[in-house]
Amino acid sequence: MLQRKFDDVVKSYFPDAMDAKDTSIHYLGKMQLDHNIDISKVLMATSVCSDDINVPSTTFFNVLFGPFVMGGLGGLPFAGQTGMTAFAHHIPDNGSAFIFYGPHIGITQDGQLGKMYRPRQEETGNSCGALMLALDRLQDCSYKPVINDDDYQQMKLEESLLSYREEILDSSNQQKAITEKTYDIIDKKIHDHINACKNEFHVDTVTLLGGIIINTDNGLDDYFVTKNFEVIDLNKLKAEA
Ligand SMILES: [Zn+2]
Repeated sequence: MLQRKFDDVVKSYFPDAMDAKDTSIHYLGKMQLDHNIDISKVLMATSVCSDDINVPSTTFFNVLFGPFVMGGLGGLPFAGQTGMTAFAHHIPDNGSAFIFYGPHIGITQDGQLGKMYRPRQEETGNSCGALMLALDRLQDCSYKPVINDDDYQQMKLEESLLSYREEILDSSNQQKAITEKTYDIIDKKIHDHINACKNEFHVDTVTLLGGIIINTDNGLDDYFVTKNFEVIDLNKLKAEA
C-alpha cells in the first residue's frame, strides 16, 4: 500500500521513473544481451553526489568492479580529466567501462520535491542539500559564488548553474528544474572528459547510464529516471579525431 502510494507520487513528477534496483538489473541485462559485454570484466565509475543517501543506489551495481568515485557535491565529476584517465587505466584487460552518473532529489510521501525524511530523523531535510542550497542562493539575484579553496565544490557547482539562473527561477518547479539542469551539466562534462581522455582507454566500449536518482524514505528503494543509456564505441571515437 505504502509502496503503491509512493510510486504514484514519484510518477506524478517523473512518469518514467523506475525502481533503482530494477533499473540496474534492466541495464546490466542490456549490456550483456544486446551489446555482448562481459559483465565479469567491467569496471564502474560513479559521478553522483557525495551524500550518504546515494550509496544504496550505487550498490545495486555491486556485481561490477569499483566504483571509481568521480563525483562530488551535486554529482559533478570533480575528479576531472585526471580522474577519467586513472579510471581508464584501471579497467580489467579485455574488459569494459561503465559510468553511472547524475544528480539526486528527495521526495516525501506528501509530494514535496527536494525534501526527504532521512533515516532516524524526525524532520525532513533537503536532498540534494548542495542543490537546494544553491537554489536558495540563486534566488537572490545579486548573489555571485566566489571560488575559494575551502568551499571549492559548492562554489563551482553554483558557478556552473549561474547561466541557467533565470530558466530555473522561471520554472513552475524550481527544485525539479535545478536538478534537471545539473543533469545536463554532468552529462556534458562526462562526455567532454571521455572525449578528451579517449586515447587513455585500452578497451572497446564505455557504457553510460545517466539520469536522476530519486531518494524516497520509509525503507523503500530509490527510484531512477534514465536520461541516457549509451554504449560508446571507443575505436570509432578515436577514429573521428
Ligand atoms: Zn546531494
